[in-house]
Amino acid sequence: MPVSQKIDDILKYIKTSSPGQNEFYQATHEVLQSLVPLLEQDSKYIEHDILESIVVPERTIIFRVNWINDSGERKTNVGYRVQFSSSIGPYKGGLRFHPTVNLGIIKFLGFEQTFKSALTGLQIGGAKGGSNFDPKGKSSNEVMRFCQAFMSELYKHIGNKRDIPAGDIGVGDREIGYLFGQYKKLTGGFEGVLTGKALNWGGSRARKEATGYGSVYFAENLLKVYDKDMKGKRCTVSGAGNVAIYTIEKLYDAGALPISCSDSKGTIYHEKGIDVASLKSIKEIHHKSLEEYAVLHSDAVYTPVTNYPEKGHAVWHIPCDVAFPSATQNELTLVDAQKLVENGCILVNEGANMPTTSDAIAYLRKHNVLFAPGKAANSGGVATSQLEMSQNASMSNWTFEEVDIQLRTIMQNVFKTVYDTSVEFGCEGDLVKGANISAFRKVADSMIDQGSV
Ligand code: NAP
Repeated sequence: MPVSQKIDDILKYIKTSSPGQNEFYQATHEVLQSLVPLLEQDSKYIEHDILESIVVPERTIIFRVNWINDSGERKTNVGYRVQFSSSIGPYKGGLRFHPTVNLGIIKFLGFEQTFKSALTGLQIGGAKGGSNFDPKGKSSNEVMRFCQAFMSELYKHIGNKRDIPAGDIGVGDREIGYLFGQYKKLTGGFEGVLTGKALNWGGSRARKEATGYGSVYFAENLLKVYDKDMKGKRCTVSGAGNVAIYTIEKLYDAGALPISCSDSKGTIYHEKGIDVASLKSIKEIHHKSLEEYAVLHSDAVYTPVTNYPEKGHAVWHIPCDVAFPSATQNELTLVDAQKLVENGCILVNEGANMPTTSDAIAYLRKHNVLFAPGKAANSGGVATSQLEMSQNASMSNWTFEEVDIQLRTIMQNVFKTVYDTSVEFGCEGDLVKGANISAFRKVADSMIDQGSV
């Protein structure tokens, strides 16, 4: 059977066996389609049924989370942990608390995580979890009670050599603290079962900064191949959370000018450059809307979501040289890609997971815009989580500089792996193919080595 027919059959099977899981379908579709050159070159992956196997999580845990709000009422949410692949190491991947969370979203994130972890060159597998719980508008006591209830089930399935969750959207320092505390209470052991911990109790320096910093390091490596650099580049960044803030911070170090950020309610355009201190104060300390930023900076322009372009996002309509989508999935559409091309953007570097729709990626590639896929460009976060695990295992504490140097080296290696693979398969610079093929090869070869388990 021709390879393309085989892939079509598997995609049809995913559609019927996972109905309505659009993001999962989008992620598997992209990976499988880009494997064609590898599968045509080496038949072993099809002979070993790896394609059928790799799109099914090793384990899916769905559970009820009952918790009590401040008014004494019982509330119910759904909890998930999808342990996708342990082929090259223990399950690893964040927890997302957001009202949009469902099984399809967690499966797409776990699938992507498997390949992202593989690209880091470290011994970590792929997983993702979370809940449709919305921390916004909840008191800290409510968040604590929810985290304790969530962990009361999750603890049965995780461990420092088994599955090590971390943060993601809606899960930051505060939530990791409550989750860790409950795990410790239930198991009686102090172990590095979560990453993204605070420095006082097992966290790593530079973990908070790692995804954003790593994203900029990746962009620098990519531009260098084309005799370009970040200096003087006007950069648009979406999001105003962990990834976006530290992308913006590192862009200044790289000599670039970050001119935007966004949240779920609107977009800020600040022509003279985003003020990092204001952004951190509004989002990290006071957890407020970005509207506050425009109050503090009268020369900044705030566009509420209600005024966004049809089928698009205001942030990508601001002229820029490099775009860093760093908020959430499918936030950069075809309409946005067309605007970016029209405005002369040279690179889209994904800080978030799958922020660019498939048709937008195709349009950008067709118009020779460089494109760095999230599973490579944002892999600095999970890589530094593994550095946190190493420090926990050896009971050591590395300096910020030591971690940052390792992060830079890892991002350089991730870029080299992805770029070299694109060259090997005759599609130089197609980093989607380069990332998917190199990561798949590593995971699939490990699956074959370990037999049919
Ligand atoms: P975060 O700190 O919770 O920030 C997320 C930001 O995106 C917030 O500004 C939020 O707006 C905005 N946002 C979230 N959902 C949105 C939606 N549906 N529409 C519009 N805006 C939305 O999360 P994060 O850790 O920065 O993660 C951002 C992205 O990076 C996610 O795709 C995540 O999976 C990916 N990622 C994160 C890491 C990591 O280490 N944290 C590593 C790799 C990849 P509000 O402020 O209004 O909520």
